[in-house]
Amino acid sequence: GHSFKSCASQIRCEEEDYDLLEKEEEEEVGVPQPVQIVVANEEQHSFFLQEQVLERLLLQKKVQDLHVVVVSVAGAFRKGKSFLLDFMLRYMYKQSSDSWLGGEEEPLTGFTWRGGCERETTGIQAWSDVFVMEKPDHSKVAVLLIDTQGAFDSQSTVKDCATLFALSTMTSSVQLLLFSRLFLLVLSPQLFTEYGRLAMEEVYEKPFQRLMFLIRDWSYPYEHPYGLEGGRSFLDKRLQVKQNQHEELQNVRRHIHSCFSKISCFLLPHPGLKVATNPHFDGRLTDIDGDFKKELVNLVPALLAPENLVEKEIGGVKITCRDLLHYFKAYMKIYQGEKLPHPKSMLQATAEANNLAAVAGSKDVYNKSMEQICGGDKPYISPAELERRHVELRQASVRYFRSVKKMGGEDFCRRYQEQLEAELDEAYANFSKQNDGKNIFYAARTPATLFAVMFV
Ligand code: GDP
Ligand code: MG
Repeated sequence: GHSFKSCASQIRCEEEDYDLLEKEEEEEVGVPQPVQIVVANEEQHSFFLQEQVLERLLLQKKVQDLHVVVVSVAGAFRKGKSFLLDFMLRYMYKQSSDSWLGGEEEPLTGFTWRGGCERETTGIQAWSDVFVMEKPDHSKVAVLLIDTQGAFDSQSTVKDCATLFALSTMTSSVQLLLFSRLFLLVLSPQLFTEYGRLAMEEVYEKPFQRLMFLIRDWSYPYEHPYGLEGGRSFLDKRLQVKQNQHEELQNVRRHIHSCFSKISCFLLPHPGLKVATNPHFDGRLTDIDGDFKKELVNLVPALLAPENLVEKEIGGVKITCRDLLHYFKAYMKIYQGEKLPHPKSMLQATAEANNLAAVAGSKDVYNKSMEQICGGDKPYISPAELERRHVELRQASVRYFRSVKKMGGEDFCRRYQEQLEAELDEAYANFSKQNDGKNIFYAARTPATLFAVMFV
C-alpha cells in the first residue's frame, strides 16, 4: 500500500540535510503532508481504499476516540481546492494568532507542496495531521481536512463523479463544493434525495450536515455581494422552485434542504491575475488581490473556528475517528460494483457500519473495564470472582450496545448483538487464560519449579 512518505517528502529529505536522528524521529511522527486515502483507477472506473493509510490516520492514539469533524473540499481539477485548503491549514496551525493568513512573502505550502513529480490523481486525499481542537464547551474534537478531486466534468463518466461525490458526502460533516458557476448537483441527484428520504424514515434526522457551495471568480458583486450574505441571496434565487422547470430539478430543489441540516453558499472574488496565470506564483500574499484576502479571512474561520466546528453525525449520533474507519470501509464496498449503488444499498451499508461501530464501541467498554480488573499488570484474581465481573460487564456492554441509537431495525441489530456477545465471550476466554497464567501454583506445575517458587 501507499505509505505516508510520498515522493514529495523524499525530495525534501534529499534537498535538506537532515541528520540521522531527525530522520528517525520523522519516521515516527511523519512529515505532515497529503495522503491518498481513496485512489481512482480511471481506466477501470473503480476506486480503492488505502486501508492501511486510513487506519494510520484515524487510529492515532490522540484522536481515535474523539468525535470527528470532517471538512471536505470537492471539485474538479485546477479549481483551486489545494489553494484554499492550504489557507485552511494555515488557520489550523496558527489559529491562536490574528495573523494566521501568514506573511506577505511567505510561499503557500501544504496540499500544493508537491512539486511536479506527482501526477494529478483523482480520488480522496487527507491531511496526515489530524488536528485536535477544543470547542467552547471544552470538549475536544478531531478535525480531518479532505481534498476530493473528481473529474467533475465531461471526461469521466457520471458514475465516477457520482461515486466520489457520494463518498465525500457520506463521510464528511462539512462539504464544500467548489465551482466556477452553480451547476446544480447534476450528478445523479435522485441518489441523494432518495437516500435522504429512506434514511429519514428511520431516524427522523437529516442525514447530512453542512453543504456549502463555493462559487469562485464571482464577478457580479453589485448583484450579490461577496461572501455568505451574497451567497445566500444568490442561492435562494437559484433554489427557487419554478413552474416551468424540469420536474427532476424541481425535486432536487425541494429535497436538498431536507437532506442537509444547513446549506449555504459563499461567493469568492477573483484572486487576481498572478494567481490565475503566473506559472511562478507560489501562493505568497503580495500576489493575491485584496478583496480575495478579505473574503478568505471571513470564510476560513466560518468553517474552522472552534465555535463553528460541526462533528460528523450518522443517524443522529456523533461518530469518532475510529467509527469513521468502519463507515469508509462499508461505503467503499458498495461502490465496487459495476453500477451505481442503489440508495437502498447505501442505506444498508450505513446501517451495517453503524452497527459494527456500535459493536466495536461496546466491546471497548467491556475491554477497558476488564483491563482494570485483570489486565496484564494486575495481580491474579480467583476465577469465580473473574467470572462474576465478566457477567456483570458483559451485561453492561450489551446494555450499552442496545442504548446506542442504531439504524437497520430490530432484527438487523439483533444479529450484531449476537456478534457482540460472541466476541465478548471470546475476550473473556482470553482474559481467563491470561489470569490463569498469573497463578504461579497453577502455572508452575512441575515439582522443580514449584520448589523454586516456594523458596523465592
Ligand atoms: P486544484 O486542482 O483544485 O487543487 O487547484 P489548485 O489549488 O492547484 O489551483 C489550480 C490553479 O488555479 C493554480 O494555478 C491556482 O493559482 C489557481 N487558483 C486558485 N484559486 C483560484 C481562484 O479562486 N480563481 C482562479 N481564477 N484561479 C485560482
Ligand atoms: Mg489539488
